[in-house]
Amino acid sequence: MNNSHQWVLATGNAGKVREFQQRLQPVDVELMALSDFTSDAPAETGTTFVENAVIKARAAAAASGLPALADDSGLCVTALGGAPGVYSARYAGDQGSDADNNRKLLEALDGVEQRAARFVCVLAWMRSKDDPLPMIFQGEWHGRIVHRPAGDNGFGYDPLFFVESHGCTSAQLEPEVKNGMSHRGLAIDHLLAWMESM
Ligand code: IMP
Repeated sequence: MNNSHQWVLATGNAGKVREFQQRLQPVDVELMALSDFTSDAPAETGTTFVENAVIKARAAAAASGLPALADDSGLCVTALGGAPGVYSARYAGDQGSDADNNRKLLEALDGVEQRAARFVCVLAWMRSKDDPLPMIFQGEWHGRIVHRPAGDNGFGYDPLFFVESHGCTSAQLEPEVKNGMSHRGLAIDHLLAWMESM
């Protein structure tokens, strides 16, 4: 794609818009925030990351009239059948904090030896709200859940996610290092590769 494009990112989080804008620099896309058009956020009623990403992208395209990009991400723990999965943000309840979620995860894994986990990120891109063929890009980051939180960087489950290659949790990685290898970074790489192939 070599013309300039304006898209809406299905978020009201200015930090997320900045991060995506920076990563999309090579392909000349100007990102608007969904909050520039509406304060409504759609209910994430899907049971898969793909469904939720499409729900968000469709709502953003409808509110803005622009092509829309949405991301949905979370943590999947093998021994828990993929939980917390799409419920990662609300694992300990709608009002639960990151610390509550982490505590609940450690309780769920109490006495469990198999602690493999992966962060996953799905991006959905839709040309319009009626687009019958959303483009889907996925990234996975494999690790394991430690027994005690460590590190102050990042957010969410980062203090519990051990990254074998670096010998520390993702909350102990510098943000640039994490972004270069994370589920979100990988999904964005796939999106960029697709755009550069157009
Ligand atoms: P959402 O895609 O913004 O809804 O994120 C879902 C939830 O998954 C977050 O609230 C975190 O709990 C978790 N999560 C997603 N990505 C990460 C990450 O990079 N580090 C830690 N937690 C994450």
